[in-house]
Amino acid sequence: MTIVDGPGIAIGIGVRYRDVVSDRWPAIVAPQHDELLSSWLRRLAYANGVAPRAFARVLGLDPGMRAASVDLRLPADVARLLHAHTGLSLRKLSAMPMTSSPLKPLLLPLRSDGRRGSSTWLQFCPRCLADDAQPYFRRRWRFATQVSCLIHGCGLRDRCPSCANRIAAFDQDELVPQHFCDICGFDLRRASNVAVRAPARRLDRCINDICRLEAITGSLTTSSLVQRLLDMPASAGVYPTLNLVGLSTAARIRCMERLAEQPVNWLTTEDDAVVAHRRRLILAAGGHAPLIAHIVTTLERRAQRHLPTSRPPPAAELPAVLGAYLRIREAAPASPRRNRGPVGDK
Ligand SMILES: [Zn+2]
Ligand SMILES: [Zn+2]
Repeated sequence: MTIVDGPGIAIGIGVRYRDVVSDRWPAIVAPQHDELLSSWLRRLAYANGVAPRAFARVLGLDPGMRAASVDLRLPADVARLLHAHTGLSLRKLSAMPMTSSPLKPLLLPLRSDGRRGSSTWLQFCPRCLADDAQPYFRRRWRFATQVSCLIHGCGLRDRCPSCANRIAAFDQDELVPQHFCDICGFDLRRASNVAVRAPARRLDRCINDICRLEAITGSLTTSSLVQRLLDMPASAGVYPTLNLVGLSTAARIRCMERLAEQPVNWLTTEDDAVVAHRRRLILAAGGHAPLIAHIVTTLERRAQRHLPTSRPPPAAELPAVLGAYLRIREAAPASPRRNRGPVGDK
């Protein structure tokens, strides 16, 4: 509403009026790159001064671990409520849960049997949390195949190093940022580095690239990749009767280290010769993930935008691109930068 009082004088109260009647919550935080929906909700709750358990009730979710199932499926009424109170578009909200990921079978389960060697639902890199201006949990940390940080080269953790409990989801009545252990209050950013041998980190990166690539090219639907990854404990000969997603991060690091010492047949044997060849190329170029990551990112962006293209399908030309890259790399003179991987890779 605007009141005009004489020529040239206008008193506007529209903005304040909008504030009074707005449904928006006082503090709005934007989701960060690759952030888990549950992590964003925890930050949103904290920014608005609401404890996690109470915030779950605001959203109409059962408190505790069941609320973390929003990472897999965001109910439509919760999405509408979040849209109304944060202004985040329904399109962005619907893209946050990992509902349609073909890699879903590789996600760590929300349930835990509490045993020391079994999995928890979420992992974290202390150094990533320490680097964050607003510490948050990444979507990639939910995958059982991810055991080391692609940025820092250290092993991930799945438990508080002080009290050995898993990260709680929406089970707290106190207002504490999510990078503090909900059980004992330990600052997870201060957790010490977990060492992972370089060959295992390299294999971890390759598996990550292969998964991303096959998810975006659609070959996952016909290949045996997911089952082969679930069977990694048996292939490694470490835990022959157990499934990868049931193991703790420490146990999966042992699997990765054992497999890194073996031939890669367990991963490259595939009916589709193109798919098998592509995996071998990625494994051969394991220390040069930026190129593969660039290709995958480009394909992901293209798929998200649904842009038409006159070029041949990427699945057909990717092996040629990677092959050419390898030939160039082999022909290039040696230099100190040539084999440099991510930070800490030796
Ligand atoms: Zn990290
Ligand atoms: Zn703790």
